Amino acid sequence: MPLHHPLMASFRCFARMGAISALALTASSAARSADANPPALRAVDALTRPIAVDLAPRWLVPAGPINIFGSTWLVGFTHLNVVMIVTDDGLILIDAGLPQAAPLVEASLKSAGFSIQDVKYILSTEPHYDHAGGIAALASASGAKVMASAAAAPVLRAGRSGAEDPQRSSLFTYPSVSRVTVVRDGQRIRLGNVVVTAHATPGHTPGSMSWSWSSCTRSAEGDVHTCADIDRPPPSGPGCLLV
Ligand SMILES: [Zn+2]
Repeated sequence: MPLHHPLMASFRCFARMGAISALALTASSAARSADANPPALRAVDALTRPIAVDLAPRWLVPAGPINIFGSTWLVGFTHLNVVMIVTDDGLILIDAGLPQAAPLVEASLKSAGFSIQDVKYILSTEPHYDHAGGIAALASASGAKVMASAAAAPVLRAGRSGAEDPQRSSLFTYPSVSRVTVVRDGQRIRLGNVVVTAHATPGHTPGSMSWSWSSCTRSAEGDVHTCADIDRPPPSGPGCLLV
């Protein structure tokens, strides 16, 4: 089912609609969506129960929605990114924040005019609690397919790291993700008009995965990369945006 949203007019390359009219549609669409889609996530239940409460405040200050370029948005927090990619067949999220952050991510989506049910894929950069703790809640509410590397998938399914992760003694457990699709290095994932490429970047965790895609505005196109903590220099150069 294609995603029918007026914002898509500004996300397709070289769309006929002007930027000003697209922005005007943004506001009215957000109002309609907020009325039509009550929140699916509750602040406290089994999947959103707070963890890491002493550390959490710095990762729970909302900083979105921010449209950073074309179809790419930030819907996360001041010290922890959650990326949203808008396609013409639904939304892709990259990471989810803490379990208790999931209702805030949903609220950010609604502020941008979308519904949690629009989320089709959730991609993971690393299976630690601060980035992946909220994936189970967001996947449950949306029905989205969760994708991660072969090394990260079993950690997400368990909600805890194993002996392969030297940081495990300092990590919090988090709600396990029942179904995870394994993605290999270099694999291309298509949703609607957007193709995201997986880049294995082990280092911070054995299963760390970075992701890249092309993002368009009315008159320009650029490559966007989101990087896990990595052991090699991130991509850079003209037309390249690192989030
Ligand atoms: Zn980490």
